[in-house]
Amino acid sequence: MVEDEEDLVEAIRAGLVHEGYAVDVAYDAEAGTEKLATNTYDLLLLDLGLPDADGFDVCRGVRDGSLSCAAGTGLRILMLTARDRLSDRVRGLDEGADDYLVKPFAFPELLARVRALLRRDSGGRGAVLTVGDLRLDTARHEAFRGDFQLRLTRKEFAVLQYLMGRPGHVVPTEELLEHVWDEHTDPFTNTVRVTVGTLRRKVSEVGTTPLIETVIGRGYRLLEES
Ligand code: CA
Repeated sequence: MVEDEEDLVEAIRAGLVHEGYAVDVAYDAEAGTEKLATNTYDLLLLDLGLPDADGFDVCRGVRDGSLSCAAGTGLRILMLTARDRLSDRVRGLDEGADDYLVKPFAFPELLARVRALLRRDSGGRGAVLTVGDLRLDTARHEAFRGDFQLRLTRKEFAVLQYLMGRPGHVVPTEELLEHVWDEHTDPFTNTVRVTVGTLRRKVSEVGTTPLIETVIGRGYRLLEES
């Protein structure tokens, strides 16, 4: 999130973290572009009125490649602004924003837009992801294996959602750490291993196969067959 209103930043961050998202914050364009260059983000919440630049310029820079962006063109951009003139909304979308939210907004609407933008790469447009006998309702935060509901923590849910977006692929530990935890997490932490471990146990308990496998030295893979 690149936004300079501290109260708003804290409210949005707390709300998103509560929903299981990992959030990094920059209070101006310079700090924001630095983070974009080094971390692979899924979504950018971008304020238009920044102290040192216009959010339009950041958006255009990411899209035309003049700003270094580790996430590349896959980065989703949601613009946040107090400007509600039609011309600003049109310009935001023309500069490459994926969506646009006018302040003040209700948090549930921000959350719904974030979910909608993030599931674009999860193979479906709906809020429900399905892989084998696993079913994940991202709007209701409910996970099922067959008929059994899984009791998952927010982090376990976020990890499962990430793996379900890439079934059959080995997801490196560092990639999970980068997408599901924030930048303040120690890269040498064992939190990923511990979280995947408890998640795998919960998923295994209610089925006949483990589904999530560790690929030694590489990462984790969600099996498509159950
Ligand atoms: Ca601002």
